[in-house]
Amino acid sequence: MKTTAVVLAGGSGRRMHTDVPKQYLKLNGVPLLYHSLKTFEDSFIDEIVLVTAAGEEAYCREEIVERYGLKKVSRIVPGGRERYHSVMQGVKAVRADAEVIFIHDGARPFVTQEILERVLAEVQDKKACVVGMPVKDTIKIAAADGSVEATPGRAKVWQVQTPQVFAAELIRRAYGRLEAEEESLLAQGVEITDDAMIVELLTEQKVYLVPGSYENIKITTPEDLSYAAWLYQEMK
Ligand code: C5P
Repeated sequence: MKTTAVVLAGGSGRRMHTDVPKQYLKLNGVPLLYHSLKTFEDSFIDEIVLVTAAGEEAYCREEIVERYGLKKVSRIVPGGRERYHSVMQGVKAVRADAEVIFIHDGARPFVTQEILERVLAEVQDKKACVVGMPVKDTIKIAAADGSVEATPGRAKVWQVQTPQVFAAELIRRAYGRLEAEEESLLAQGVEITDDAMIVELLTEQKVYLVPGSYENIKITTPEDLSYAAWLYQEMK
């Protein structure tokens, strides 16, 4: 089974309020982005396609891939305006013989070998799997006036993480359709926030939830980085 990981680091990190994009901020003395790349490097994954912000390809090659000796990063490609544009560029750069594609946020440093293995075992049969965890809080659906419209049963509500993992043929087909239908989806007010959604919206394939971990957080704001530094020490 040939597997490729598309690791995303093309965001601007506006919510981090720093001059340095968040993926290059340090966690335990090394860039945040390095942590997840290293987990994929040490795994069964055959190759890694790294997606960076346009113009940062050389920086990533020199300061992360070469500096830390990552051997599986075969291509570094520029991303796009929205996350899904970056994924599109990454998926296009995956080699033709890949059978399974893992899509991962470079801003999630705590993905583990166990998570990668669990989701690989599931995707072989299920074709579309996203890692996530059941929510701990009660979730409310809000109406436009701020009143509560509904309270979904907690066991049925999951917070979704990455990796999101797909049969290569399926995710290529889904992103191909997105390219063709992007304008009409946007015109309908659809907000595309993850990869699973594209498969849900544009193919007949069911998407399955696979447990990740509550530690598999995404670093978005400065508080997240402080929590990550603490978590890193705890997990060691
Ligand atoms: O912005 P957000 O925190 O949702 O980003 C999730 C991941 O997607 C991050 O790793 C970020 O670098 C990446 N991203 C991207 N291209 C964009 C926006 C986000 O690669 N245009």
